[in-house]
Amino acid sequence: MNSEKCQRIGNGQEEKVKGVLKKSGHAHRKSLNDSLDGELKGFLIDEGQLHTYDDLTKVNPVTPTTVLKCLQARYRAQVFYTHAGCTLVALNPFQPIPGLYTLEVMKQYHCAPQPQESKPHIFIVAEEAYRNVQGQVDPVNQSLVVSGESGAGKTWTSRCLMKYYATVAASSSQMKSQDTVEMIERRVLDSNPIMEAFGNACTLRNSNSSRFGKYIQLQLDRSQLLVGASVQTYLLEKTRVAAQPANERNFHIFYQMTKGASVDQRKDWKIPYDQSFAWLPNAEKALEEDCFNETVEAMLHLGIDTEKQGHIFRILAGLLHLGNITFCTVADESQPCDIKEHSKDCVQDCAGLLDIPVEELQTYLRVQTLRAGNQSVLFRPCSLADCWVRRDCLAKVIYAQLFEWLVMFINDSVCAKKSTWCNFIGLLDVYGFECFQVNSLEQLCINYANEKLQQHFVAHYLKAQQEEYVSEGLEWSFVKYQDNQGCLDLLEGIPTGVFSLLNEECRLNRASDAKQFQGRLEKELSGNSSMSRDKFSKLPHFTVAHYAGKVSYQIEGMMEKNKDPVPPELIHLVQKSQNPLLHQLFADRQAEDQGARGLRQVVTVVSRFKNSLESLMKILHSTTPHYTRCIKPNPECRPLTFRKEEVILQLEACGIVETIHISAAGFPIRIPYRSFLQRYGLLSSLTAVAQGADGNAPLSLDLTLYFPPPT
Ligand code: ATP
Ligand code: MG
Repeated sequence: MNSEKCQRIGNGQEEKVKGVLKKSGHAHRKSLNDSLDGELKGFLIDEGQLHTYDDLTKVNPVTPTTVLKCLQARYRAQVFYTHAGCTLVALNPFQPIPGLYTLEVMKQYHCAPQPQESKPHIFIVAEEAYRNVQGQVDPVNQSLVVSGESGAGKTWTSRCLMKYYATVAASSSQMKSQDTVEMIERRVLDSNPIMEAFGNACTLRNSNSSRFGKYIQLQLDRSQLLVGASVQTYLLEKTRVAAQPANERNFHIFYQMTKGASVDQRKDWKIPYDQSFAWLPNAEKALEEDCFNETVEAMLHLGIDTEKQGHIFRILAGLLHLGNITFCTVADESQPCDIKEHSKDCVQDCAGLLDIPVEELQTYLRVQTLRAGNQSVLFRPCSLADCWVRRDCLAKVIYAQLFEWLVMFINDSVCAKKSTWCNFIGLLDVYGFECFQVNSLEQLCINYANEKLQQHFVAHYLKAQQEEYVSEGLEWSFVKYQDNQGCLDLLEGIPTGVFSLLNEECRLNRASDAKQFQGRLEKELSGNSSMSRDKFSKLPHFTVAHYAGKVSYQIEGMMEKNKDPVPPELIHLVQKSQNPLLHQLFADRQAEDQGARGLRQVVTVVSRFKNSLESLMKILHSTTPHYTRCIKPNPECRPLTFRKEEVILQLEACGIVETIHISAAGFPIRIPYRSFLQRYGLLSSLTAVAQGADGNAPLSLDLTLYFPPPT
């Protein structure tokens, strides 16, 4: 592992550890380690048997240490799944485990009369959702929410779930081998390598990190067969196309192309073997994700034919050449910056591959047009810094549109007609909570999404369960849980939440000053205890106390990112492209003329993200949720290595101990009054008669006659 990676992980970790130490009242990190290493005081079970606990609710007492020890013992025994009441905890083994996900195992869980009684496995969650969707009374749509930090195994888990359904719900009544799944199942599965090629990248935390969020609905017909799917994506990290963090890589697809292209393709795309690209760092790393053939095959299966693929790859190759264009200032400041001599060929290659006029590309990367009145157009040379921004902006907007088009194409290819499906099982794989040394708008959005999901979890499970007990008059001592409403109010409150204020600042279209904005936030939001400021930080920022820990957000650059402006000249330019796909990507897009901007409502990144998240939450609320918490046992992604400090932070961040407390204290079996009376009513003659809970069943049972309480 290189030193930078060490430093970055180390620093981030330190911050997180500090947060937990503060929360748990420890003085410093050593005490955390001591407490984790210490004896299991008061532990009522044999330490040697810890690995046998399939459900953490049975651990006694439930404390962070006992839960941790139990998971560690299981990990050592190579048992990777453990129930935590209503949640499944999945520990990442970081190596393929033979026999864990085979067709046989799928069959075993699918055919088990009571899958819950089998060994904990992701297939139990899958099967439970599959059986629920039929519904005893009414069919109910299901959602499988998979969460965890980067590298914890969310995407792996989602893929396992998809394979499970593609197998057990295959349109043939008999279960088939994974290689011979029918057309539609094949297509649904083939959407994975395509989306991963275009949306995943190698980062410091995961060599196949998803740089977008995904909610896929698997559509089932009346006979419970998989007949289609639809995908919704969230917040692609498009900045990665033009800027890759140190020691990270661009999206996989670029490496797949440059490594896997044929001789003819290399000629066509102008990517000879010895050509290096500024936007392709760390190309020497050989990853199993660099598999061009697999992506091409999957595209063909989904109906992206060779001709369309040609258009796609020419656009991508064009972007690589765009990234090699560099600029320099000229002596006469009234003149536009120059394109550096050695990169003039790149302009030619880029324009040729994007099929746009080369002169215009040269001009509009360096010159801004301003409209004066209705008629005349003025040309203003851009500053050197602006030239770089414009170049990167062109790449980002093209890549983002291309990604959106792909998702749309996949949907067209795999989505069933509404008349043919009646229920769905949704799989949610979104990025986990993020806290880096520098956090900006991207982290704010990601952490906001996690707050929403946490709220959904709390509302659906913790709150609902406690409220139900109270309403039924059951004896129950309240378990304290962290309600994150305060934090959500801080972020999404109208009119004075962080997002509203940020949007307002962007709509005013004035030169935004970070210090000033910090002042505004502090003035408007001082009453919210989830907001604070780090006294030692000199740069304008604000700190949010998320349910998973405190995060400081840097304000500098946030407004610009939120506006995400695209120079109108560049939009007009790509609209002239002779590449039919590139032309199509921008055909309906209105270029924003700078003069008109301030007057119109700017659709900001935040408002778009908030809207798409709201629709997602609506869908989730209308389904029965199942939660899987993926845990990353060590930051280096080393096989079978369990780091206690790393794991405990993740357990804290997802509130697992609270979940276990509630699940353990709750009643394991719930039967509606009516069914209960129907089933056990015959005993009623032996007991006193009283009013039933629903008012129309005058029955009451004194079952203590038959099941006396333990003495
Ligand atoms: P990100 O948020 O960065 O996308 P993620 O949570 O989706 O991360 P994955 O890509 O699913 O993480 O997992 C990271 C790696 O861990 C996988 O590439 C795989 O090598 C390994 N892995 C995850 N789960 C398992 C498993 N159940 N068995 C074997 N290996 C696994
Ligand atoms: Mg992922």
